[in-house]
Amino acid sequence: MTLVRWGLIGASTIAKEWMIGAIRDAGGEVASVMSSDAARAKDYAAANGIAKHVSDVQALVSDPDIDAVYISTTNELHRDQLMAAADAGKHVLCEKPLALDLYDAHAMVAACHEHGIVMGTNHHLRNAATHRAMREAILSGKIGKPLFARVFHAVFLPPHLQGWRIKTPSAGAGVIMDITVHDADTLRFVLNDEPTHVSAMVQKAGMGEGGVEDGVMGVMRFKSGVLAQFHDAFTTRYAETGFEVHGTEGSLIGRDCMTQQPKGEVILRNAQGEESLNLHHENLYARGVRLFHDAIAGGGQPSATGEDGVKSMAAALAAMEAAKSGRETEVAA
Ligand code: NDP
Repeated sequence: MTLVRWGLIGASTIAKEWMIGAIRDAGGEVASVMSSDAARAKDYAAANGIAKHVSDVQALVSDPDIDAVYISTTNELHRDQLMAAADAGKHVLCEKPLALDLYDAHAMVAACHEHGIVMGTNHHLRNAATHRAMREAILSGKIGKPLFARVFHAVFLPPHLQGWRIKTPSAGAGVIMDITVHDADTLRFVLNDEPTHVSAMVQKAGMGEGGVEDGVMGVMRFKSGVLAQFHDAFTTRYAETGFEVHGTEGSLIGRDCMTQQPKGEVILRNAQGEESLNLHHENLYARGVRLFHDAIAGGGQPSATGEDGVKSMAAALAAMEAAKSGRETEVAA
């Protein structure tokens, strides 16, 4: 396969902690990084072994030695940066949430289609061995008809991430745009189903500032009739993550699986007893990049497409609206 040369838009934590390594593991090259601050761009490039650094989006996307860009700036910037990349004909892997509203998110997908480039959304949890095994088990009828799901995704936001996520509404702060959007995507993937309505209540326990929610509990109703409960937080130091699906003929109990790490287990419980599903753990982000590279080469699709990013964001926005209005809210298409 031809080498894919990546440009990073955003000198971010996620790129430093996961995506630079993932791109390299998947056989790609991290060719350049853009930060809005020239000195930070230079330091970040030096610290991460990246040959080029720029402080302007146009300079990055017009570089003929770049094939694809990865956008991991704060959420309000994704739209314009993706549009610039699409106009320049670069493939784009964009962080979630794609944008702050559905109008922009749809426009981003449309622009990528128009320019004939690959667009992916970095919903890493689809790449987890746990979630893939649960999806397969459901598709092969191991739990009969799914009735309920439960997502346990309450974590503690580490101090180095306690910035714009809890303080800056204009950047898309809050636990719903940060975590519920991942739950929605993982539910859509595992259940192979689409949410239609959401009810939710938020909590403001003091970590979020200026009215930003730092916890949420809610329920999504799916087309098939499945009800899925979700619990997301920035404030719980000792909770365990998990993902369960309960069907007419069995239950899938995923433990320690709503995480960036390639870990966790899944138990299938039914009339025959309990068994642990066989899992082949692999770096979630590296698998995502590998599938993105395959899609560029004409083989299949990114694990989460641009359309997936829109649909999962629509469910998160419905949760936000439901919490605000106190009413069950329809998920916009
Ligand atoms: P960061 O806060 O680390 O980075 C966001 C932006 O903040 C950067 O682009 C950078 O701007 C600026 N910045 C970062 N560090 C500093 C610093 N020390 N001083 C000054 N400015 C700084 O955000 P995250 O990496 O946590 O998140 C980025 C995006 O990725 C978000 O959209 C988030 O939702 C998503 N994300 C996705 C995850 C996933 O698993 N899919 C996990 C974590 C985040 P500049 O580039 O201009 O320098």
